[in-house]
Amino acid sequence: MRSICLYCGSSPGVSPAFTQAAADFGAAVAARGWRLVYGGGGGGLMGVAARAALAAGGEVVGIIPRALLEQEHGLREVSELIVTESLRERKGIMFERSDSFVALPGGFGTLEEVVETLTLRQLRYHKKPVYFLNTDGFYDPLLAFFTHAVAAGFVHPAQLGLFTVTADVPGLMALLAQAPDATSPAGALKPPALG
Ligand code: AMP
Repeated sequence: MRSICLYCGSSPGVSPAFTQAAADFGAAVAARGWRLVYGGGGGGLMGVAARAALAAGGEVVGIIPRALLEQEHGLREVSELIVTESLRERKGIMFERSDSFVALPGGFGTLEEVVETLTLRQLRYHKKPVYFLNTDGFYDPLLAFFTHAVAAGFVHPAQLGLFTVTADVPGLMALLAQAPDATSPAGALKPPALG
């Protein structure tokens, strides 16, 4: 079964378009028969996506540090709840348990997670695909920064190919469906070193 890792806000954001995208994404992952892997929180876009996937009969794996169970309203009704001792352990398990990574709108935590996944891909620790769902142009300023970093000589232009940006959930689902399965030779992995 294909496992999709979701990085997104523990807040809902101000636009209903963000919650709609999270709900559509969760439901679409479940409808495809894929597993949703995420940070285990019950609030914000995280909770919206997970509940939508569960409501659509999907399998959801929540991975959350013990210390954040209360603060992030850990969702108890997930299919599998993994309680970790640290943020680092959470990130490592989310990485290992997933074939593809998707960033919906979010804050520092979302950015930290998706950019680390990109840097690990840049350093060839893995070949798993990374997607940004650019709902309402949320990621435009970050994408502009990436282009700025290329112009400033800190990012090789080829590194802009490490991720794919898509505007809506149907487009994202089509891309995910084409992505190589991590168990296939095309998606074969070197063991990640997340320390
Ligand atoms: P945010 O986008 O800031 O709302 O955060 C989204 C999620 O990322 C939350 O569940 C945070 O606990 C999580 N998060 C923030 N920083 C880290 C980190 N360094 N490693 C793993 N998860 C993190």
